Amino acid sequence: MDVFGLIGNPVEHSLSPPMHEAAYEALGLDARYVTFEPDADAGASAVAAAETLGVAGLNVTIPFKQDVLAAVEPDDLAARIGAVNTVDFSTTPPTGYNTDAAGTVRALRRHDVVLDGTAVVVGAGGAGRAVAFALADEGMTVEIANRTVERAHDLAADVPRATGHGLDDLPDLVPAADVLVNATSVGMGEDITPVPADLLHGDLAVLDAVYDPVETRLLRDAAAVGATTVDGVWMLLFQGVAALERWTGRDAPVEIMNEALRERL
Ligand code: NAP
Repeated sequence: MDVFGLIGNPVEHSLSPPMHEAAYEALGLDARYVTFEPDADAGASAVAAAETLGVAGLNVTIPFKQDVLAAVEPDDLAARIGAVNTVDFSTTPPTGYNTDAAGTVRALRRHDVVLDGTAVVVGAGGAGRAVAFALADEGMTVEIANRTVERAHDLAADVPRATGHGLDDLPDLVPAADVLVNATSVGMGEDITPVPADLLHGDLAVLDAVYDPVETRLLRDAAAVGATTVDGVWMLLFQGVAALERWTGRDAPVEIMNEALRERL
């Protein structure tokens, strides 16, 4: 039996186990997906321990995505993002990937969003970094707006075709944008939005990384003006799909994984 899993702290409410185990069942794989909650300073040693124990693959979430870089060989994209969310133990040393980036692109493509023109990425934390690199690598011009403006400037210096801004630039940026991504935690568990509704327009595609609630205020406001909306469950789904495909070399049963996720939300 292959063992896959997730390290994070906390992980008890993770939706990854049912999503991945639904896929194993559909693919006929003899595998389990388990969660581990190491101490906050033990991310790299947890990866080393998992390798010793013969774990086949690990996902990595907050607060370990940067720390585990010390225990893996990151691929080019994960090295540029500076964060790993997927570890493959079939190589020595283990390889670190960032499938949040692929998850972003696949979530948008799934909704027929053309990744051309200008993207506004709100947020410059872990999710913002992955989203900004993903969209820039697709050829988009990326405007990064963050509450702490220095963080936006720092990220923009690393990302091709990117510029950093404070949130007060959103009135100039959003009306001219093709794609808008909320990569802040604003809206998580609360009916608030990081982007004033009157800036949204019908030619936008809006992805909200927040997935609890599934329909955030930002997505409701976007739908009301006729924008294309993509909820954060799609991003969560496709980062998992990309991880599973890395680990198994098989095409993931996307619909079954999507159903397993959404029935728990
Ligand atoms: P993070 O590294 O802690 O970054 C948090 C970001 O939110 C920063 O840009 C921060 O701005 C901003 N922020 C927090 N409170 C704010 C406020 N009151 N007003 C304006 N900006 C605020 O977290 P993360 O890992 O990037 O995650 C961000 C969100 O994305 C979370 O809700 C997470 O669940 C979600 N996420 C979803 C997926 C998915 O697959 N759907 C994947 C990854 C993350 P400052 O820099 O100014 O602090």
